[in-house]
Amino acid sequence: MSIDVVTPDHLRELISTFVADHQTRSDVRDWWREPLLATARADDRFNILSEIAADDHLIPSDLLSDAETVIVFFLPFKASLGKENATGKFPCRNWGLAYEDTNRLIGLIAQKIADYLTDRGFKAAQTPATHNFNPEKLMARWSHKHLAYVSGLGRFGINAQMITPAGCAGRLGSLVTNAVIDDSPVVSEEELCLYKKGEECLKCVSRCPVKAVGENGINRQRCWDRLNFNLKHVQALAGMKDSTNVCGKCVVDLPCSIKTG
Ligand code: SF4
Ligand code: SF4
Repeated sequence: MSIDVVTPDHLRELISTFVADHQTRSDVRDWWREPLLATARADDRFNILSEIAADDHLIPSDLLSDAETVIVFFLPFKASLGKENATGKFPCRNWGLAYEDTNRLIGLIAQKIADYLTDRGFKAAQTPATHNFNPEKLMARWSHKHLAYVSGLGRFGINAQMITPAGCAGRLGSLVTNAVIDDSPVVSEEELCLYKKGEECLKCVSRCPVKAVGENGINRQRCWDRLNFNLKHVQALAGMKDSTNVCGKCVVDLPCSIKTG
């Protein structure tokens, strides 16, 4: 087994090709745009996670004792899917289907990267795309959003979502490896949200059907209650998995949905 050098661009090319090929399969819908990826050395910067995310948030070495690098990627949804989900107070069926397909694809991408690293003599470790959280605190113990923030893949919006150069309508995945890979942030700006930059917006606040998004943060319980209500009562989501907790009104058809705000 050989030890090789892995660069961020190797990984970007790997997942770009993988997502493009995946979408040509006859049994797969084409929900996604070009993925983004950032890497960050697993250093002290990640110690901030217990302050800015859950107080019991894991650090990279909790997943892999000799972790050297965190890899975070973003799968942006196509604008057409966001437009469709922007209508009405409840999510459309395609939003639910895309959520389920994206969870599956995030797992496949993470495995693809892990295999690529393993083939080169390295180790990799990952957690599921979602539902890795503390149900009482409603906070992830491995928050892809906060990892994306520390790794420079994006910046938080008023909607508490990660705004990347490809917007915030999409899903994140991450893993850690003992391969040493240089930092490769894709964002250098302090903020990407219009309102946080001092401009007028707050469109995400008025978009939330249960007023869970406010100027000063998100009411997690109110949002979570809505997601559970949707799964139980919205006919468009009938037959979907127990983990398909979706709404997405605060990430679609906004100035920051498919590009920076
Ligand atoms: S809709 Fe406007 S205020 Fe809300 S996160 Fe996006 S850019 Fe920021
Ligand atoms: S997901 Fe829906 S309920 Fe939750 S904050 Fe966003 S718009 Fe509101």
